[in-house]
Amino acid sequence: MLIDRYKRIINYLRVSITDRCNLECIYCVPYGGRTKLLHKEILRYEEILRIVKTGICLGISKVRITGGEPLTRKGVYEFLSKLTSLDGLSDVSLTTNGVLLKQNIDKIQDAGIKRINISIDTLYKEKFKKITGHDYFHLVWEGINLALKKGFNPVKLNVVALPGINDDELTAFARLTLTNPFHIRFIEYMPIGADIINTNKRLLVPEIKAYLSDIGEMIPVKNGINDGPVMRYKYKGAAGEIGFITPISNHFCSTCNRLRLTASGHLRPCLLSDRQVDLKTPLRSGASDKEISDIFLKAVACKILEHNLTAADSSGIIGQMQAIGG
Ligand code: SAM
Repeated sequence: MLIDRYKRIINYLRVSITDRCNLECIYCVPYGGRTKLLHKEILRYEEILRIVKTGICLGISKVRITGGEPLTRKGVYEFLSKLTSLDGLSDVSLTTNGVLLKQNIDKIQDAGIKRINISIDTLYKEKFKKITGHDYFHLVWEGINLALKKGFNPVKLNVVALPGINDDELTAFARLTLTNPFHIRFIEYMPIGADIINTNKRLLVPEIKAYLSDIGEMIPVKNGINDGPVMRYKYKGAAGEIGFITPISNHFCSTCNRLRLTASGHLRPCLLSDRQVDLKTPLRSGASDKEISDIFLKAVACKILEHNLTAADSSGIIGQMQAIGG
């Protein structure tokens, strides 16, 4: 079992399979610009699978595939199939920006993925282009609706609350759940990377909840086993749900059960701390399974008690979101 110094059990691995992305979101710009890892620096699929298998032996039971944009990586569907076939994983999910969802939805489903999170921060085509740099709103929206039709359950929509950018749309997102079975997740913007946006204006969950209470009473929903740190609610009679993820206003570090595997092959104990442990170099130098297990243990031993990020201050984090995976 992976247990850290603070008695937290680590059973969840988030894997960024690429640092490449087909969007250029204004709030997801690393320090030093959008540099790309060289191909040889990115973990190969067989390396990721070996790492995951070792993780499973140590108690990892949940894996989320993320990026960059995972669906841009060649061979991803075959990789997902292999991953979902591994014994010992109770949950394999995918986070995507949805741009390539519509054309690949059958392949995702055939690969055994049942749960999918799609990131979308606006319901307006023009604003989508401003936020992401690309005119792909229609592709994402069609992909989202197809995911519902195809029976993905739940279809979660990740909405990062961006002060001064989409605060006027939070209610519209929440209203979608009245008639559609979406699970909308409002996520507090984390000021990391190069482009810290408008942090003079607060848009944390207490403010977001105040916006959304006009729609109706928000009835708490009990968290399921795979839910993580979300606070779930439902409007009376609604088809879907809303939820809040509060890395800033009420961080959930005390219940953190995660490790992250970056695209460059590092185990990162905390998203919001740049400390990470190199797994790729030993792996490529012929490390045994025992040696790989020891690196997992080392990464878990490095887990900090809690991060110290505030709404206005990045505390110097330079890690690249797209290589870490969010
Ligand atoms: N490309 C995929 C996607 O868009 O979902 C996966 C990678 S993306 C880095 C994962 C998530 O991180 C997205 O929901 C994105 O909005 C979120 N994210 C990126 N930068 C963020 C920030 N500074 N604060 C909060 N969430 C952020």
